[in-house]
Amino acid sequence: MTDATHDPSLKSWVETANDPKCDFAVQNLPFGVFSTAISPIERIGTAIGDQIVDLSVLVDEGLLSGVVNIFDQSSLNAFMAMGPTSWKDIRTRLSALLSGTDPALRDNAALCDRAFVGQDDATLHLPIQVTEFTDFYASREHATNVGRMFRDPDKALMPNWLHMPVGYNGRASTIVVSGTDIIRPSGQVKLPNADAPVFQASAKLDIELEMGAIVGTPNAMGSRISPDEAEEMIFGYVLLNDWSARDIQIWEYQPLGPFQAKAFATTISPWVVTSDALAPFQTNGPKQDPAPLPYLRQDGLRNVDLNLEVTIQTETQANATVISRTNFKHMYWSAAQQLAHHAVSGCAMRTGDLFGSGTISGPTADSCGCLLELTWNGRDPLDLGGGITRTFIEDGDTLTLHGWCQGKGYRVGFGSAVGTIRPAI
Ligand code: CA
Repeated sequence: MTDATHDPSLKSWVETANDPKCDFAVQNLPFGVFSTAISPIERIGTAIGDQIVDLSVLVDEGLLSGVVNIFDQSSLNAFMAMGPTSWKDIRTRLSALLSGTDPALRDNAALCDRAFVGQDDATLHLPIQVTEFTDFYASREHATNVGRMFRDPDKALMPNWLHMPVGYNGRASTIVVSGTDIIRPSGQVKLPNADAPVFQASAKLDIELEMGAIVGTPNAMGSRISPDEAEEMIFGYVLLNDWSARDIQIWEYQPLGPFQAKAFATTISPWVVTSDALAPFQTNGPKQDPAPLPYLRQDGLRNVDLNLEVTIQTETQANATVISRTNFKHMYWSAAQQLAHHAVSGCAMRTGDLFGSGTISGPTADSCGCLLELTWNGRDPLDLGGGITRTFIEDGDTLTLHGWCQGKGYRVGFGSAVGTIRPAI
């Protein structure tokens, strides 16, 4: 549901927010955790234009009435636990203060001095304390490509795939914020013609372009939630790069699924864009046929029209090259359906649970969300110009995900999720 905070004509007195290419228009108002060299205590802020507004300062000044100061904390978890009514109240207040319909912040220069920090002057931290991480596999195009590559091209989808959002429980301990270097993992690799595995650094290191959904409010163990209720529980979304070691994965994954191949690192973007902010960009998902079982049925607009882009930059190149462009709207299973499925056995979901959408691949060859598909498992190297090609990621390469919803003259963007690969230990 949209309200005055989504009005496309709304502008901010923070001028940089009105740049049509800026991710952080006044319609966005994402939440993150930051610190500065002068004030190293981690606290919560909202991105607006090229600035961060320190919400702990606004609470102390009485500008966000009705909340005790949960914005002086180093994660969003306490705020998320307050629930959807509080999320909406804070969004409405911030929209008024930053658009200037309430001039209390704009007209107080001394307060602005204390409340605003340039994004270039801040360090961004992991925005949530991740309680658990679950990774799904919800792109039909991705699952079909992988099935064609490694199983039967005529029966690319597993028999369960069209009936449930398939997923596995991953690791919360190695979720890191954008900008964190990633060490190339080592593990067991069995080469196709070898009799036995060897222990070595992964030679098929890959990305997975995903969106991460964050559970804001919990459900009790033994309870069940509908997709509509699940949608209310999701606080917001981040970009998520689920780094994957394909050569380790192919040897270890049967029968219980990926383990070490995906346990070493997952990068997320620092700003959590709320479900509220995405409301104007809701769109139809692909037709679900066969119809899902009743507990998974979701009527209406279940997907989000969200542009996604992946770039790679090698150590010797001055510029990054776009290697994929796609859109989150292609996903077969929605985040709400994934959450409803996750809880259906009686599994309790908690504030701070993160779940990955699964690799987001579109219908065309250049809209795939991982190198495994983009290079067809190394068969078709990518040309990065200047004589440089890539099949999988090499040491020193920097991979960046970008994502944004395009409004009329403004963007609700996610910033970026960046990681550079360092050599194996
Ligand atoms: Ca994944």
